[in-house]
Amino acid sequence: MFFKRFFLRCVPLGMAILTASGAYAKPVPVFAAEVSPIPPEIAAQMQQYTWHEGCPVGLDQLAYLRLSYWGFDEKPHHGELIVNKKLATEVVGIFKALYAQHFLIERMQLMDVFKGDDDAAMAVNNTSAFNCRDITNKPGQFSLHSYGVAVDINTMINPYVKGDQVLPEGGRKYLDRKKLVPGMIVKDGFVYNIFTRRGWHWGGDWETRQDYQHFEKPEVVK
Ligand SMILES: [Zn+2]
Repeated sequence: MFFKRFFLRCVPLGMAILTASGAYAKPVPVFAAEVSPIPPEIAAQMQQYTWHEGCPVGLDQLAYLRLSYWGFDEKPHHGELIVNKKLATEVVGIFKALYAQHFLIERMQLMDVFKGDDDAAMAVNNTSAFNCRDITNKPGQFSLHSYGVAVDINTMINPYVKGDQVLPEGGRKYLDRKKLVPGMIVKDGFVYNIFTRRGWHWGGDWETRQDYQHFEKPEVVK
């Protein structure tokens, strides 16, 4: 039942909306989401780049999501995301809420596109979730991305900062978190609220480092 493919629609596709002045507004592109088990072709590429025997969750514990998002070109796009299946419906709800707020996302591609290389994905401001890899700066310890219970959003605009280290390097431009730009996540802002209201934790709140791109919900697997 959970894995039955489904679409969420706010209004029928292409429905024109009558404004107060009586004029027809342009149709608002609706949010759409699709949830399924990992398709075989995606599973094959994951076994090449982002998943291997010994990873903490199996491919059957993950879900493949296709989601609408607003691009930096202010147009709707469909992105791909892989998350723990226990969080699939919740993540759809989160991205539906981000879409309703017209939050801009530069790109949403699977980590396999970057051969599992987090630096390469961050350098182009990618948004992603699952990747069976170590914690940044902690080799040998599985990151929560390895369980599909962490999401990184607009990774250049929202960099990882530990002392002088800024990842990706291009993220240095965005260290002043009061200089707001589209796609930025800030404390108590609507992106922060959409996640934390559902019990997710934000990496920007951490004391020893700030991982502004990162939200996690480890409670579902620990
Ligand atoms: Zn992360």
